[in-house]
Parts: sequence; structure tokens; C-alpha cells
Amino acid sequence: MSVYIVMLGPPGAGKGTQAAVLAKKLAIPHISTGDLFRHHMREKSELGRLAQSFIDRGDLVPDEVTIAMVRERLAQPDCRRGAILDGFPRTTAQAEAIEHTLQDVCRGCVRLVPFVTAPAATLVDRLAGRLTCRAKGHVYHRTLNPPRVAGTCDVDGSELYQRDDDSEETVRRRIQVYSEQTTPLIEYYRDKGMLVEIDGDRPIEDVTADLMAAVKAD
Ligand code: ADP
Ligand code: AMP
Repeated sequence: MSVYIVMLGPPGAGKGTQAAVLAKKLAIPHISTGDLFRHHMREKSELGRLAQSFIDRGDLVPDEVTIAMVRERLAQPDCRRGAILDGFPRTTAQAEAIEHTLQDVCRGCVRLVPFVTAPAATLVDRLAGRLTCRAKGHVYHRTLNPPRVAGTCDVDGSELYQRDDDSEETVRRRIQVYSEQTTPLIEYYRDKGMLVEIDGDRPIEDVTADLMAAVKAD
């Protein structure tokens, strides 16, 4: 049976870190809209150029563009057994669109929405020290989750860098955008009985254990 999971939570809660682990354990793709946009920006595609100015400011890329990108990704054959969506949906319009897309394209639906939380001070510390791999977007932290060799990705050996939008000013804006535009999804998914609250302010392995328990209970 297919398993579509939406990771919900503020920037820095650990959605990407956990989505990568779950994707491996469940053998389904990890789809991060942030990673997809960064790929397009590196390739300097039309979509990348359009997304860049929004991302640099910490604003959301317009729904129409984001939804079309996710729809195309979900149409790939590797998504037929399920997927972990990380950073999408971020607006009510995106949440409504994903239901239609999953029905049309994948004959499935979102089943589980882990809502990963952490206090604001933790979010800011995590984002300030986040390191991201150039090749595939693997995520580390300078002190909380360091790579084995400083500056180098454990998985593929590529260079680690600090994202431009992890600067203090842009992080503040991203957290504000999350509160204004994404928090309505908490009630949206709670009303559908899909929301499972996960305390993300604990060691990575403990958070993963709770997530796996939620998947098994589903
Ligand atoms: P999100 O995808 O929600 O924005 P990330 O998964 O990129 O968050 O995590 C943000 C930062 O916090 C990264 O540097 C990551 O290594 C670190 N991190 C993630 N989860 C934990 C955790 N449970 N404890 C400590 N650091 C964490
Ligand atoms: P992330 O990697 O999830 O932190 O996303 C980085 C940036 O990409 C965000 O600050 C937005 O500008 C953009 N982005 C990612 N996902 C979405 C989305 N679902 N809707 C709109 N913009 C998005």
C-alpha cells in the first residue's frame, strides 16, 4: 500500500533530517521542495531564476509554480509506492492541490502528518549552524550534528556550505512567514485526523523512533 507522509513544522524543526531517515527506512522518495528549488537555482533554469528572489528574501515561492513542480515530481514512477513530502504543503492552497494531485497522479492520499516542533531559540540555533551538502542537500550542524570530516559530506564527500537564507535576518523572516502562512495547516490536518505531534527538541534518534512508531500505528 502507498504511504504519503507530509512533514509539517517550522524551519529548523528537523523535518529534512528526519525525512531523509524515514525515506531510507521506508524505501520511498524524500521530496524536499527547498532542495528542488535549489537544484533549479544551481542549473539557472527559468524556474530557478523565478524562485531565487523569493527564496533570498525568505518569502514563499508562488503557489502556482510550486504546485506545478511538485505535481511533476509526483508523476515520476518512483513515487507510486509513496513519498515523504518535506517543506510542502506550506499554504492551504498547496494542501488542497496535493490532495487532487495524489488522487489523479498516484491514486493515493496523504495519510500521516507528523508535526515536528521545537522552541524558537532552538530553531534559531539550529539554522545558524546548519551545513548543507552541495551535491544532494544532506544536512549537518556545526556542533549538534557534525560531519565526520569538517566541511565534507559523510555520504558523498561533497563540500558543505551555509545556505544564504540561513542568515539571521532571513531566518527571522522565514519563521514569520511560517507563522502567517503555514500554521493554518496544523488545524487543517488535525481536523482530518492525520496530525501527530512530535517533540523535535530531543536527540535525532529519539525523534526518529517516535516517527517510526507513528508510521507503524497508521
Ligand atoms: P528543517 O528541514 O525542519 O528546516 P533540518 O532537518 O534541516 O530542519 O534541521 C535544521 C538543523 O538542525 C540542521 O543543522 C540539523 O543538523 C539540526 N538538527 C535536526 N534535528 C536535530 C535534533 N533532533 N537535534 C539537534 N540538531 C538537529
Ligand atoms: P526549505 O529548504 O524547506 O527551508 O525551503 C527554502 C525556501 O524555498 C523557502 O524559504 C521558500 O522560499 C522556498 N520554498 C520551499 N518550499 C516551498 C513551498 N512549499 N512553497 C513555497 N515556497 C517554498
